[in-house]
Amino acid sequence: MAHDPISDSVLDLIRSHDPDAAVILEKESDRQANTLELIASENHVSPAVMHAMGTCLTNKYAEGYPGARYYGGCEFHDRAEDLARDRAKKLFGCKFANVQPHSGAQANAAVFLALLSPGDTFASLELSDGGHLSHGLKVNMSGKWFKPVHYPLHYGEGDAQFEQIDYDAVERVCMEHKPKLLMCGYSAYPRVIDFARFRAIADKCGALLMGDIAHIAGLVATGVHPSPFPHCHVVTTTTHKTLRGPRGGLILTDDEDLAKKFDRAVFPGMQGGPLMHVILAKAIAFGEALKPEFKSYQKQVVANARALAKSLTERGYRITSGGTDNHLMLVDLRTRDADLTGADAEKWLESAGIICNKNGIPRDPRPPKVTSGLRLGTPALTTRGFREPEMVKVAEWIDRVLVGKGDQSVASQVRREIVELCNAFPLPGHSIAQSV
Ligand SMILES: *Cc1c(COP(=O)(O)O)cnc(C)c1O
Repeated sequence: MAHDPISDSVLDLIRSHDPDAAVILEKESDRQANTLELIASENHVSPAVMHAMGTCLTNKYAEGYPGARYYGGCEFHDRAEDLARDRAKKLFGCKFANVQPHSGAQANAAVFLALLSPGDTFASLELSDGGHLSHGLKVNMSGKWFKPVHYPLHYGEGDAQFEQIDYDAVERVCMEHKPKLLMCGYSAYPRVIDFARFRAIADKCGALLMGDIAHIAGLVATGVHPSPFPHCHVVTTTTHKTLRGPRGGLILTDDEDLAKKFDRAVFPGMQGGPLMHVILAKAIAFGEALKPEFKSYQKQVVANARALAKSLTERGYRITSGGTDNHLMLVDLRTRDADLTGADAEKWLESAGIICNKNGIPRDPRPPKVTSGLRLGTPALTTRGFREPEMVKVAEWIDRVLVGKGDQSVASQVRREIVELCNAFPLPGHSIAQSV
């Protein structure tokens, strides 16, 4: 498989230096090129973003912030961080940005450190309903040191709002528990979030509103999903999901006092030296996201998710909440086959070159390691250039593998067809593989 030229020369360099490491890199690179990536939180970055991370900026300690570092030699690091911050502010239409969090969970932890004291109450959606582990899971710092209260989804079967955010219930929970912080934004929620409605509830119960847009940041940046500003007091995100940047986190706000608190919470509160090579890559990714092509990409991500959901529905799978407004969907496998589990489906699909994750569906009767659902997302496939016709093929392949119940001859045949399509839709910067 032909990679982008820089990746190929990096591979050659590592091969001559450390063959054991090179084998791993080469195999993973081929895996990404030759399989369908349907994990909703993953994407393929551009060669510029990719290779900015493999640069000499990794050598530098730049603790502190631009103009106020604890080490000498930071002139160009200040410029890199200013560039990333300015572009982030422009992209999301807000006044302050902290680009240093190493990940989305780190960004959330910094917000907790800035706004809450141990034992304080906050409100969020539970992980099993589509939330994130950093929103109050018992084994996470957020659930161990703080007191989460969870608002439910709407469970009135047959209602238009079935399995969607139940704003009346959010208000009820918040008025009863008076959380200091109200969180919205999720990991497995396929519908639009009404940030204005959340803000009205936050104001009524005296909470600050936090929007964690980790999954939908690319949609938000391009106006394909409504903005959390001016409604949220603080917005956190990852930079590596729909936003298609390097792995990392980001904290945004319009409030100067809060911005100072977040800066102190990230450094020195949570982290030491920032990952300056990643911050340069963030700046590049934000620059890409400011271009008109990025909006077309995000629109296609959503169109592709709709097409995939429709095709799967036609084949007998139930999509939770009846469909999707964004880049992802939750597939209830039981309507196709009552015995089908998310764990089996994930394993069988992987053997055919379709990569996705099992996921609990709302009120899933099966345990988290088994589940009745799959979470599927279209950001990575859309980056390859897939459009609606390819989504129909993807749905057909998924169904063939699942109906075949993991039969190896079915999986192998599907896998061959997938490799062929992957060759016709190379990853960013890769050239079309010559047939041998
Ligand atoms: C992915 C995600 C995160 C965490 O991101 P990491 O970079 O894995 O720490 C936080 N919140 C939400 C809603 C997410 O989906």
